[in-house]
Amino acid sequence: MLDYQKQVINAAIPKDIEAILIANGLWDDILNKKVPCCICGDLIDKDRIGALIVKDNGLSICCNNMDCVEQIRK
Ligand SMILES: [Zn+2]
Repeated sequence: MLDYQKQVINAAIPKDIEAILIANGLWDDILNKKVPCCICGDLIDKDRIGALIVKDNGLSICCNNMDCVEQIRK
């Protein structure tokens, strides 16, 4: 997971991240700004993806706010 987080933070949107979001049915929701950050609750658009978090029952996304990314990394 750490590798993914670094990729997302350092690049715009790596193609594999986009592919993961598409595979999980989240990409359209992101384009439509329907997906909230799992930390601060702000709606995320495709330019503000900070990290993907894999959980037991699916995928969560946090925005690229540094406070949120720090929370994820703990
Ligand atoms: Zn956030």
